[in-house]
Amino acid sequence: MSDAWDKAKGLADKHASTGGIFVRLANDGDKVVGAFLGDPLPREVHWTGERYEECTGAENKCSQCAESKRPSLRVSMNFYVPAEKAVKVIEGGSTWFKDLLKCRDKYGLDRWTFEVERHGASGDPKTSYTILPDERLTDEQRGHLAGLQLHDLQKVVSGGGEAGGDFSSYDKTGAAGQPIDPRVATELVGRLKVLPRDAVDTFLKKFGVQRVRDLKASDEKAARAFVEALEGKGQKSGGEIDPFA
Ligand SMILES: [Zn+2]
Repeated sequence: MSDAWDKAKGLADKHASTGGIFVRLANDGDKVVGAFLGDPLPREVHWTGERYEECTGAENKCSQCAESKRPSLRVSMNFYVPAEKAVKVIEGGSTWFKDLLKCRDKYGLDRWTFEVERHGASGDPKTSYTILPDERLTDEQRGHLAGLQLHDLQKVVSGGGEAGGDFSSYDKTGAAGQPIDPRVATELVGRLKVLPRDAVDTFLKKFGVQRVRDLKASDEKAARAFVEALEGKGQKSGGEIDPFA
C-alpha cells in the first residue's frame, strides 16, 4: 500500500497523458475507492444526448435554454484512486454532490478514502450513486495526498486545449449507446496522428464527432475501414512505426 502511494505522483502525470482521466462507473454495482482532493468545480450543463454542453444561461441566449431544456448541475472533483495509482476526475449530479457534502461534514474528505458505487444499469436515467467512507487515512498518506498534483478541472471538463482533447466524461453514454473502447480510440488516434492534419479532420467530419473518443462502439468497424482507406492514400509521413499495431 505505502509503495503505491509513493509512486502516485509520477504515475498520475503518465496516466493523464494517456487519457482515461475520468472515473468510469459504467454498469450497475461498479464501484471505485479513492480520496477526494481539492475544490469542487460546479457547472450548469445540458445533456444533448451525445455530450454535456455548458449552459451559458438564458440571458446569454443559451441555445438549449431557448428550447426550454432545463440545465442540470454537474460537479467535478479530483479523485486519487490507489488501485490505479492515479489522480483522476470524478463527476456527479446534484444528489451525488449533496451526499458528498454530507461525507465532508461527517468524516472530512481529507481524512478518509471513500467508496463510490453506481446503482443502475448502463443507460438507466434513474441511475444513482452512493458515497461511503472506506478507510481512515494515516498521517503519512494524507501527507502524500497533499503533495499530489491536481488536474485543472476547468480545462479537463471543457475538453478544450491540447490537454483536454481526448477526454470524455465517465457517464456520457447516457441514451447515446456505448462509447468506443478507449483502447480502440487510442489505437485510432495513433494511426491518425501520423497522417496529415486534414486526414484527421476528414475522419472526424465523416463520423460527426469532435474527438475520436466520442465515437460509438458501433462505429468501430467503419472507423477502422475509414482509417485504412486514409492510410492507403499514401499520405503516411514515411518510416513511422505504429506503436499500436
Ligand atoms: Zn442553458
